[in-house]
Amino acid sequence: MSPEPDDGASPNRSTTRPEWDDWTTKAANEGHDLPLDAHLHTDQSPDSSVPIDIYAALAVERRIPEIAITDHVDFDPRDPAYRYTRFEDRERTVRGAAERWAKQGVTIRFGAELTYNQRWEADVREHLARHRYDYIIGSVHDWPESPYWPSRIRAWIEGRSIAEIVAPYYAEIIAAARSGLFDTIGHLDVVRRYLHPHVTAEQLAARQDLQEPALKAIVESGVSLEVNSSGLRYPGAETYPSGPVVARFHELGGKHVVVGSDAHARGSFAYRLGDSYRHLIEAGFDHLTFRRGSERVRIEVPDGTRIGTAGS
Ligand SMILES: [Zn+2]
Ligand SMILES: [Zn+2]
Repeated sequence: MSPEPDDGASPNRSTTRPEWDDWTTKAANEGHDLPLDAHLHTDQSPDSSVPIDIYAALAVERRIPEIAITDHVDFDPRDPAYRYTRFEDRERTVRGAAERWAKQGVTIRFGAELTYNQRWEADVREHLARHRYDYIIGSVHDWPESPYWPSRIRAWIEGRSIAEIVAPYYAEIIAAARSGLFDTIGHLDVVRRYLHPHVTAEQLAARQDLQEPALKAIVESGVSLEVNSSGLRYPGAETYPSGPVVARFHELGGKHVVVGSDAHARGSFAYRLGDSYRHLIEAGFDHLTFRRGSERVRIEVPDGTRIGTAGS
């Protein structure tokens, strides 16, 4: 995993686009009145410095009743979140905040984002056998020997077809889905960010067949597909995965989706999370599939018109 930038405040579009200053568009752009943000990094992740209470206060302010704290857990000693914090400390911090904030109407779940790779799958399995989380995201990042590492990416792309370029990433996604270890596959297609600007969004969009086996593996395994809005903060400006991929997931028989802003800074809390909801509603989903400890739960999503899918 390479560090993600602290991206500061989200643009306040309502000041420059007064016609957007309505309730529905605020919901879409700033993440108001949405039922869940299931992917947040606090100062217990090496690439975030946000204290948990900041997210809790923002959740109250934006009327988001439930959030999951999903700090990074890495398994390669060269990755930044390898033994960065102790499980016990993370759990105590999150459970303590959950107690403090419950009365104010926000429920805080203790989750984690585990970096998955086939080479350390046994370590992930062991970690999960010993530690209980409310909710677990499995994500494929640009692992230290990956061809997508910034110093290696150019050489990797040289002379290879798009299919060859993306193959190692999707192979890991397929293995993550089939491992049965996770509730959710995090930010599918984040490889696009690693490939930018060497491979363009247009080139990738023309070869959506390449992610089909990964989508099928996610469908067959029953793990949830996360629609992660963090990609909207990066070049290419699309959710991970994009709307058409979420639609394809539904066509293939996908039943389980969930959403997260993947905030690492206070300004990106729930940032454009309404776009994630919109994509899944437009694809035909009417609920999220999340886990609260021992139970996998279904969370209804707001009516599409209320987050700007109809007529806007
Ligand atoms: Zn991630
Ligand atoms: Zn994350």
